[in-house]
Amino acid sequence: MLIPAPGKDNGPCQDEGCEHPLCPALREKAAAACLWCQKPIGYNQPFEWDDEQDGPFHWGCNFETWFRPIERRLKRDPVLNAKFQALLKEHRNTETESGQ
Ligand SMILES: [Zn+2]
Ligand SMILES: [Zn+2]
Repeated sequence: MLIPAPGKDNGPCQDEGCEHPLCPALREKAAAACLWCQKPIGYNQPFEWDDEQDGPFHWGCNFETWFRPIERRLKRDPVLNAKFQALLKEHRNTETESGQ
């Protein structure tokens, strides 16, 4: 899952006072704390929903458990692998920035 940034396609409106039924739900989801790093899920960051713990987590944060099952697939697919590595890098950069 990924919530596009406010104002972008499929993202919530930039105007928080809008009357769309979906926008507040998207903002709420983006503000939800990641199960692993406790930081907001945020916008433009891939995440999954953990049904057992009933909470979201960033792909990068659950790296160990998330990576294992697709490791082989990534090895066979350099394009997907490159994409994944880029996302992971981006995720880590965002974490250090927001940690200030
Ligand atoms: Zn809206
Ligand atoms: Zn996280």
